[in-house]
Amino acid sequence: MDMNPDDFPTSAYIGGAWVTSKDQFAVTNPATGLDIARVPNLTPADARHAIDEASAALPAWSAKTAKERAALLRRWYELILAESEALAQLMTAEQGKPLAESRGEVAYGASFVEWFAEEGKRAYGRTIPTTASSKRYITIKQPIGVVAAITPWNFPIAMITRKVAPALAAGCTIIVKPAEDTPLCALALAKLAEKAGVPAGVFNVVTTQDARGVGEVLCADGRVRKLTFTGSTEVGKILYRQCADTVKKLTLELGGNAPLIIFDDADLDQAVAGAMASKYRNAGQTCVCANRIIVQAGIYDRFAAALAAAAEKLVVGPGTGAGVNLGPLINAEAVAKVESLMADAVAKGGMVKTGGTKDAAGSLFYKPTVLTGVTADMEIVSQEIFGPVAALIKFETDDEAIALANNTPFGLAAYLFSQNIHRAWKAAEKLEAGMVGVNEGIFSNEVVPFGGVKESGLGREGAAEGLEEYLETKFICLGGM
Ligand code: ADP
Repeated sequence: MDMNPDDFPTSAYIGGAWVTSKDQFAVTNPATGLDIARVPNLTPADARHAIDEASAALPAWSAKTAKERAALLRRWYELILAESEALAQLMTAEQGKPLAESRGEVAYGASFVEWFAEEGKRAYGRTIPTTASSKRYITIKQPIGVVAAITPWNFPIAMITRKVAPALAAGCTIIVKPAEDTPLCALALAKLAEKAGVPAGVFNVVTTQDARGVGEVLCADGRVRKLTFTGSTEVGKILYRQCADTVKKLTLELGGNAPLIIFDDADLDQAVAGAMASKYRNAGQTCVCANRIIVQAGIYDRFAAALAAAAEKLVVGPGTGAGVNLGPLINAEAVAKVESLMADAVAKGGMVKTGGTKDAAGSLFYKPTVLTGVTADMEIVSQEIFGPVAALIKFETDDEAIALANNTPFGLAAYLFSQNIHRAWKAAEKLEAGMVGVNEGIFSNEVVPFGGVKESGLGREGAAEGLEEYLETKFICLGGM
């Protein structure tokens, strides 16, 4: 195949047509500040048109067999892999993450397409033993219908494939509204789906800066039967409310405030490696990044020193630079937020062990930072940092650690490090989180369920649970036997 990043489309994709518009917006490379493309700034009316097209495509797509849909998804998967280098380059250009991470995300994103191509064949119903000799009971699984997806910029491919692949595998059609910072990866995915033979109207991409107006249409239209969203809790709550009138099924992957607990008996090297992976991946811009690193008193100083030493070894720079493992933040607001959280923490007694300022690599780069002496009254403890700052809190007893960890309305990921299996198991059970990493800082993949509890969201993505989100269960009673 060998496409260049420039070969990928800059038009929106609706009903199998590449749609342009006079009104456009720029996509910027966060490492350089330069515009790399312009894409259509579509309107709520265009979103309505996309719903028309997705609705029109639904009967034929849902009538295909799971095996027929699987064959198309498999082909899409292969095309994504064939173009993985061009996709990775495109992702680093619009999102900023180091190329090695972009390559990893393309493989991770593609894995959902492979997995759900197969899993779609296993949308089993049940037979249920009867309660009356004249009746028989069965359930069947059916696609929920037209789906709308609103996605974030931090994983511009994976956050789309893990919604689109299960939706399509289940027999649904979908409209994706990608984040305004990273529409190009979404359009590239649509191009490859088109090449794979996914029929017109089955997968649509609406690029827009009017997230609110387009979002209102997607939520209000009764033909859209499901909304799947990954993004901030604030926007998730707006969408939840907006979907009430049409009683849509919802999957919400919202913010996190992940605790990462290090017990005295942790293996120090393992704990540092886990914290590094969880904290600094994507420059700290993931919803499962360790937000509060909660460290027991007996290991606190050694851990802080080792983490700072490891953080200082990170190479900051543009994602395309050799050896770079910490890229820019996504935009100026993200940098301002990190700076304000740091200022608040330092004013309240937090100590900068390393970093603590912007990096000379460019205006959106922030140094890998380790902050000690963090206390519960600091904003950095209650807010999602979304930047490369490790905030270290000290604790004495196990109960105190769990109480600190659970003292948040969020509950997405949690991590803990201990060599004592009983202590680790008990802590994992008590943590209020949808996912717990034990002696592990990175755990997401296509075969396991990803999602949160409390205000971190509803539903799960990936695994068998991820397919279920796009299916309805119909009970059929056969009477008159
Ligand atoms: P982040 O803070 O990570 O950018 P957001 O929740 O603001 O997270 O954005 C996630 C996605 O939600 C993006 O695609 C964005 O355009 C979209 N979005 C933001 N505000 C709204 C809204 N009011 N209605 C619908 N979508 C929105």
